[in-house]
Amino acid sequence: MRAAVYKGERVLEVEEIPTPTAGTGEVVIRVRYCAVCGTDVHAFMYDVAPPGTVMGHEYCGTVTEVGEGVTRWQVGDRVVGGGGNPPPGYVPSGPRNDPRYNYRTMGFPEGAKTRAYAEYVQLEDWEPMPIPDGVSDEEAALAEPCAVTVHAVRLSQIKLGDRVLVMGAGPIGLFCMQTARAAGATSVFVSEPAPARAEAARSLGADAVINPFTENVEERLVELTDGVGPDIVFECAAVPNPSTLDSALNIVKRGGQVVLVAIAWEPTPLVTPDWMAREVKLQASFRHTAGGLARCAGADARGTGECGAYDWRNELPAAGRYTGCV
Ligand SMILES: [Zn+2]
Repeated sequence: MRAAVYKGERVLEVEEIPTPTAGTGEVVIRVRYCAVCGTDVHAFMYDVAPPGTVMGHEYCGTVTEVGEGVTRWQVGDRVVGGGGNPPPGYVPSGPRNDPRYNYRTMGFPEGAKTRAYAEYVQLEDWEPMPIPDGVSDEEAALAEPCAVTVHAVRLSQIKLGDRVLVMGAGPIGLFCMQTARAAGATSVFVSEPAPARAEAARSLGADAVINPFTENVEERLVELTDGVGPDIVFECAAVPNPSTLDSALNIVKRGGQVVLVAIAWEPTPLVTPDWMAREVKLQASFRHTAGGLARCAGADARGTGECGAYDWRNELPAAGRYTGCV
C-alpha cells in the first residue's frame, strides 16, 4: 500500500510499504479521510518523529478485513479510527502511562504502529468507534480534534454563565469555542489574527473576535467583561514569543483559570509579577478520552449540532453549531 512515511529532517515521502492484515482480534480499515493534526506538523517541523514513522490519527474509514474471533465488526462498517472502549481488565502499555511521562522526549517512540497517512490501518477490534448514521465521513474524521476540546472543557472549571476567551481560531480553537458554549458559557470571545479563521469564528457565533496584531487583547477583554477579565481562557494558539500563554495568564480574571490546550514546542517567556498576585490558575489539558470521541459523534447523530464544523473545501466552517452533550 502507499503511505506518507516520515524520513527525518523534514522530509515526508509517499512510498510502498506492506499492507497490514488482520490477526486474531484485529481489524483492517481502509482510510477514507485523515486530517492533519498540529501534533503531526510539530513532529515534522521540530523533527521529533523517528524516521520511518507513519503519522495521522484524525481519521475515518471502512472495515475491509476482520480477524479471527472478531464479532463486533463486519466488512463495510464505517468507523472512526479510535475512541473505542478497551475491554475490562485491559492494562495500557507504553510510555504514556509512565508516572514521569514527558511528551517532548517520550511522545514519539521508535517503532510506533503505522497510522493513517496510509491506505490501510490495522487496529485491535475494540479500538475503532462506529460512525452513527447522519454523520458524514468528513465530519467523523474530525471527531478526534473535537474530542480534544470536549476533554479540555470538561477539565476546566467552567460554570453556567461564564465569560470565556479562546485564543486562536484554528480547528481546535473553533471547536473549543463551541464546546465551551455548549458547556454553559454565555459569552465566548476569540482572539485570532488570520482573516479566514476570524471569519470562521464569527460565523460560528463568537461574541467578539479580536485581532491581536492590531488591537490590545487584554484591554479589549477587560472592556468586554466589565473591567474584570474572562472567567476562563482556553489557550489554543501556542505562540511562543511573544507568549500567548503569558498573555492568557495576564488576561484572565483574578482567581480565574487558563486552560493550556496548544503546545508551543519552544521556550515561552512568562513575566510572573504581571499576573501572579491575582492568584490565577493554570490547567494543562492533553489529548482526549475515549468517552469524549463518543460524545462528539453521538451529539452529531442526534442532530443537535455539527461535530465536524470545519469545512476543508473553502477553509470556512460549515453552518451550524455544536451543541452536544458535554
Ligand atoms: Zn490530533
